[in-house]
Amino acid sequence: MDIKMVDLQGQYLRIKNEIGTAIEEVLMSTAFIQGPQVKEFAKNLSDYHRGAHIIPCANGTDALQVAMMALGLKPGDEIILPVHTYVATAEVIALLGLIPVFVEVDENTFNIDASQIKDKITSGTKAIVPVHLYGQCADMTPLLRLAKEYNLFVIEDLAQALGAKYTFSTGETKMAGTIGHVGCTSFFPSKNLGAYGDGGAILTTDKILAEKIQMICNHGQRIKYHHDSIGVNSRLDTLQAAILNVKLKYLDDYTLRRNKVADFYDSQLSKISFLKIPHRASYSTHVFHQYTLKTVGIDRDHFKKYLEDKGIPTMIYYPVPLHLQKAYRQTGTGEGSFPVTEKLSKTVISLPIHTEMTNDELSYICDSIKSYHG
Ligand SMILES: *Cc1c(COP(=O)(O)O)cnc(C)c1O
Repeated sequence: MDIKMVDLQGQYLRIKNEIGTAIEEVLMSTAFIQGPQVKEFAKNLSDYHRGAHIIPCANGTDALQVAMMALGLKPGDEIILPVHTYVATAEVIALLGLIPVFVEVDENTFNIDASQIKDKITSGTKAIVPVHLYGQCADMTPLLRLAKEYNLFVIEDLAQALGAKYTFSTGETKMAGTIGHVGCTSFFPSKNLGAYGDGGAILTTDKILAEKIQMICNHGQRIKYHHDSIGVNSRLDTLQAAILNVKLKYLDDYTLRRNKVADFYDSQLSKISFLKIPHRASYSTHVFHQYTLKTVGIDRDHFKKYLEDKGIPTMIYYPVPLHLQKAYRQTGTGEGSFPVTEKLSKTVISLPIHTEMTNDELSYICDSIKSYHG
């Protein structure tokens, strides 16, 4: 058995012909930059998001940066974000001269603990960046309430949660990325909707903001060689757009397949005393970018090694919390200041999950886990 964390090759082989045709079309047209497939993809992704404006860009990190630039955030502004996230979220904040302000996460959902946001709000706070980690939306209702009360922008990082749906207490649902002012996502190959290279997109339901974002992505110009604002060069390649146009059609099927894997794991692992299966929040669907367990009372790294020896790859997201990273140390936030996140960094483990997993692989993984004895 050749178990992989993600199986991009297997996924490709199922759509090989369609992809080949789409790529060939771009190659023959030679419209490698801003070809018609880019607009087509923006339209398709917009339809998928119930008509939200979509601005494709070069990658998810750029999406975050451009969104923050478009909102007019200025050096010194404080931006609240969860401390348990991928580095890109904090990186762009720091790069723009903004001040990242970390907030602890909820130990069950792994997402920002909304009840701890208020304490971090000052007169300098301008935005909150909820990250929908591992594929499940953060608890947006209390977060939106705070944002409204303190007049803060909400910038969703949905790089791991494209396609997730949030349900409000009224029963109304919204797609991840269209809940706050702006959403930022990534098409990194291993993401739920992965390109064959880098890619990203910015989502917003605000037409004026969408125009600003579009302009910033293209050197701050609306008309060629007329630069109204300082921008960046961040475009989605036509080739990647053509590939994504094919793959977007399968996104819901991919999500279903990931959920089937997660359901299988849940059913097999829920009674194992040294593991806690992922918590499923009532307010969000889960697109299972990762299937992340918490280990309880065992040496996580020993367990990881045991699985590795059995040919089962696993990953740790993330082994070192942001506040303990050399680049992001903040005054007064040493070891012990974010106990939940610090504990997660020592206890979480993510199992293989992708669209091509077989029942044999899943059974083998679960049987191997069941026969682990510390
Ligand atoms: C992948 C990811 C990003 C960055 O996306 P890139 O396309 O790799 O730049 C940002 N935030 C989160 C949470 C991610 O998982």
